[in-house]
Amino acid sequence: SAKPDEMDSALWQKISDHPCYSEEAHHYFARMHVAVAPACNIQCNYCNRKYDCANESRPGVVSEKLTPDQALRKVIAVANEVPQLSVLGIAGPGDACYDWDKTKATLERVAREIRDIKLCISTNGLALPDHVAELADMNVDHVTITINMVDPEIGAKIYPWIFYNHRRHTGIDAARILHERQMLGLEMLTARGILTKINSVMIPGVNDEHLIEVNKWVKERGAFLHNVVPLISDPAHGTHFGLTGQRAPTALELKTVQDRLEGGVKLMRHCRQCRADAVGLLGEDRGQEFTIDQVSDDI
Ligand code: SF4
Ligand code: SF4
Repeated sequence: SAKPDEMDSALWQKISDHPCYSEEAHHYFARMHVAVAPACNIQCNYCNRKYDCANESRPGVVSEKLTPDQALRKVIAVANEVPQLSVLGIAGPGDACYDWDKTKATLERVAREIRDIKLCISTNGLALPDHVAELADMNVDHVTITINMVDPEIGAKIYPWIFYNHRRHTGIDAARILHERQMLGLEMLTARGILTKINSVMIPGVNDEHLIEVNKWVKERGAFLHNVVPLISDPAHGTHFGLTGQRAPTALELKTVQDRLEGGVKLMRHCRQCRADAVGLLGEDRGQEFTIDQVSDDI
């Protein structure tokens, strides 16, 4: 479709064939995720480390973990079979910025082999400020930060601890550090012209109302899209919140919050919470066709 008049062409270039940033593009362009960075530096109350990270993907499923070399082979195999492939994302399980060496090795290798692929990562933001310069050097022009709060008192209910500066922090102290690092990371990305999407996991009774405030903060700091995703509550897959059995939002509760955010940062409504090893158009998952043992050794 045509570029809106008020948008500059460099920005248009960045969004027009990225399925997660453009509603148009999500029908025509495919993305794939490779799960190369399983280590994480925070604990979300809704996370069970055995399964995918809710930063970007559907928690509660187990993705195929790959080394950077395996990831490269897989991306080449998919690029040969799926002509619409336009984006490679690293989106959990774990944190792409904390498990940085693996993320960096993967992005560099793929960029060398497939010149026009867009590179994308998702992160909880804690280690993000340390890597913004390298992300820009590697031409990563899309980053997603999961931001569930801007008030450390609320954050303390979501994050029991973080690991930062060689030690564990807990409670409000932990949430405050995470909050400051998320805002700093977002500001640094905006300053470099890297398009940033914010994901918020809506947790009823914890941060549902508060997401209005989150929306204001991220808009002021230049976020391009705000994506509110429901907590997926499945006790068998470790949505624990202590033992209280936190419930998921209903479809109506989710829509009510999303409607109240209209007019803030542009809302993303076509997100399907894809797996950390998803392959294909959004809403489609061909990951099982491209597991590493099906990808030939001689690529
Ligand atoms: Fe789990 Fe992701 Fe949270 Fe880390 S950031 S604790 S992997 S949900
Ligand atoms: Fe990038 Fe997130 Fe889309 Fe994956 S789901 S391609 S990490 S924006």
